[in-house]
This record gives sequence, C-alpha cells and structure tokens, in this order.
Amino acid sequence: VIKENQRNHYKLFESSITKDFKEMLTIENEMRRAIKQKQFEVHYQPQVDISNDQVIGFEALLRWKHPSRGYISPGMFIPLAEKTGLIIEIGDWVLREACRQNKKWHEKGYGPTKVSVNLSVKQFLQKDLVNKVKQILLETKLDSAFLELEITESMSMSNEAYIMETLKGLKELGVNVSIDDFGTGYSSMKYLSQFPLSKLKIDQLFIRGDKEQNQAIVKSIIHLSHSLDMKVIAEGVETKEQLEFLKSQKCDEIQGFYFSKPVAPKIAERFFA
Ligand code: C2E
Ligand code: MG
Ligand code: MG
Ligand code: MG
Repeated sequence: VIKENQRNHYKLFESSITKDFKEMLTIENEMRRAIKQKQFEVHYQPQVDISNDQVIGFEALLRWKHPSRGYISPGMFIPLAEKTGLIIEIGDWVLREACRQNKKWHEKGYGPTKVSVNLSVKQFLQKDLVNKVKQILLETKLDSAFLELEITESMSMSNEAYIMETLKGLKELGVNVSIDDFGTGYSSMKYLSQFPLSKLKIDQLFIRGDKEQNQAIVKSIIHLSHSLDMKVIAEGVETKEQLEFLKSQKCDEIQGFYFSKPVAPKIAERFFA
C-alpha cells in the first residue's frame, strides 16, 4: 500500500512538473514571438520633485500586450525572461525605446525630463553593458544626463570588482544609477558608501506598511541617503498622508499612484501641460 501511494505521489509530482515545464516553454516561445511581433510596450510613471510638484522624470515600465491574454505584468514574465536569457534582448529594446521616447519629448519642447530604466541582474552583469548604453545614447541622441538606471540590491554582494568597474564606466558616461526596492535586499553599508550611486528608492513596503516602525525606517533611509550625498525617492506613494510625511522628512522625490499610475506615452504627455 505504501509503495502504491509513493508511486501515485511520484506520478502526481511528475505530471505537475511536466505541466509547469510545458507552460514555461509555451511562455518562452510566446516571448520570442512577442519580440518579433512588437507586442511589448513601455509605459511611463511620473517622478515628482517633492519641493515643487514638478514632474522631473519618468520610470519606464515594461508591458506585454499579449494578443489573447491581454496585458501581462512584468512580475509574471521578467523572472522567466531572466532564466532563459531573453531578458538581454528585451532589456536592450526597453532601453532603446525609453531613450528614444525621452529624446522625442525633448525635441517637442517638453521637459527636459529624465527617464529611469530598470535593469535586472543579468542585464547589469553583461560584459558590454557600458558600451551598449553608450551606443544607445549615441543612436537616440539622448544626453546621458537624462538617463538613469535602476538596479536592485540582489547583486551587490557578488562580483564586487566587476560591479564597481561597470558603475564607474556608467558614471564616466554621465549615467546615474539608483538602488531600487531599497531596504528589501542585502546591501551592506560598505558597498553603499563605496559604489558610485546617485539615489536610493525606498521600497513601497515601507511607504505603505504599518505605521510607526515603517516611518522610522523611512526616516533612516532618507537620512542615510543624504549623509552619503545621494538623493532619495519614495515609491508606491498612494495617499496625501504618506506624501505629507515624506515632505516633512525632506524626501527629494516621490512616485506612486497618488500622482499617477504608469501610463502609455501619449497619456504621459499630459504631464507636460
Ligand atoms: P519596480 O521597478 O520596483 O517598479 C515599481 C512597481 O510598482 C511597478 O510595477 C509600478 O507599476 C508599481 N507601482 C508604482 N506606484 C505604485 C503605487 O502607488 N501603488 C502600488 N500598489 N504599486 C505601484 P510593475 O510595472 O508591475 O513592475 C514590477 C517590476 O517589474 C518592477 O518593479 C521591476 O522590478 C520589473 N520591471 C518592470 N519593467 C522592467 C524592465 O523594463 N526591465 C526589467 N529588468 N525589469 C522591469
Ligand atoms: Mg524600478
Ligand atoms: Mg521598486
Ligand atoms: Mg521591484
């Protein structure tokens, strides 16, 4: 009886793995097709200077407009794109598209605003990243001062020397780098002070979450950023109350639904009015 159960259990396990695997292959193939068929879009969420309510930049956020499944959020497919390596191709496209769009806005006389592009670990660690960024800036004619890159803390512990080299290369280009989702990863204070970084993005968890303790954390991150000569932006700001608190703590910038959701480029243009 036990053997029988084990066998059944094994079968169940096997079939669910096969199913996951097939599902993964399907999505992988669909992602390849999506690149060719231009199903990806970049949406833009305004970043606002807290001192004067001016939109000073936009975060570029990837969207997949799937022909039958509708919009698929990046949280669903970026991890798989990372695993399969497709993130390189997709990421190059996002970077080029965001720079192109931002330059187009500048040419229309809007802004000039910055555009902030997310890079996942694999993208950041690719050998020719600095050259690639340089190339895309030349191609799109965007001034490097108007491009920002967001990386997460997950990579700060490994490949220290290589990360330093890349960050220095980007700095030489004039491209600023921020730490996204700050407070949820593993940055050590050592890296934070040594790496040439320009901004910390306080994770939404601390902005939204349960009051007093989170407010204490937010205060410390703002203080830490300023002590290290970095700017600080709060993401996930949804209420006036959160905004007022951040103002009182001298946070530099905010981003969140309180101001606007990420929107298609046409709609983003309204923020220039
Ligand atoms: P992230 O870079 O931390 O982006 C912030 C996420 O929070 C976005 O989700 C945004 O829509 C959402 N958000 C902004 N304000 C608020 C708010 O007030 N309330 C709430 N509840 N949410 C808010 P999204 O667009 O689904 O992106 C999720 C994650 O996917 C991003 O987190 C980023 O890590 C990744 N991602 C998005 N686009 C790209 C990309 O082009 N390349 C890479 N490598 N990753 C990307
Ligand atoms: Mg981000
Ligand atoms: Mg974030
Ligand atoms: Mg994130």
